Amino acid sequence: MRAPDVISIAGLPPNIRAAFSTRAGGVSGGTCASRNLGVTSGDDPEAVRANREALATGCGFDAARAVTLTQVHGADVIEVGPTGGAGRFTGSLAGLADADACVTSAPGVALLTQGADCVPVLLWNGDGSRVGAVHAGWRGLVAGVLGAGVTAMGQGHIAAAIGPCIGPCCYPVDDALRATMAQQFGDDVVAGDAVDLRRAARRALAGAGVDDAAITDVPGCTSCDDERFFSYRRDGAGTGRQAGVIWLVDA
Ligand SMILES: [Zn+2]
Repeated sequence: MRAPDVISIAGLPPNIRAAFSTRAGGVSGGTCASRNLGVTSGDDPEAVRANREALATGCGFDAARAVTLTQVHGADVIEVGPTGGAGRFTGSLAGLADADACVTSAPGVALLTQGADCVPVLLWNGDGSRVGAVHAGWRGLVAGVLGAGVTAMGQGHIAAAIGPCIGPCCYPVDDALRATMAQQFGDDVVAGDAVDLRRAARRALAGAGVDDAAITDVPGCTSCDDERFFSYRRDGAGTGRQAGVIWLVDA
């Protein structure tokens, strides 16, 4: 994909499109400058609507059917049908459901995962018949959202892309969380006083049966790279949201 101000992903099946957005290319101001896609930052809804419409047009997906979720740091997965988000994406801007992962077999229905430090993970299967989008912060990782997402993808060879997220360079956490993450994902997800969410996500995917070679890292620390990314840790609750998006091409 050569859409402006998005990061494309190599190696996708021919009928699958996917990308990670950046903060560039939008119309929002202040801490949401400029391509904020989220509704929890206090941003002007008209600006969010314009940013979402421009992303859809630039990437080539159907805004009328695109899906965002009201992300709650849990492990629930929503199966999305052919009507997708039914206009909410650029209409009411509301999420389709309270959940952190969604999957679909419906061509033309773009699935988005939003974040500003949490790990965005996009899933697809080898035969190009099914896609998924997962929001995985530390709470979701511990709750098992990635395993749940992979399970919902069903049988077959599953591949994944792990998008820009906060790196261990910028993510010190307390003793209890370091211990929890080490116990669940391995000692090497702890680096000094910090946690490596990307590595934990890779472990969670492997634990769900995804081959290590089928996992693509799209690098970037959201906190370090303030030119490209929003970061909750860096900028607080008023920061904007970037997104990962994936869809099956409409036949
Ligand atoms: Zn960093």
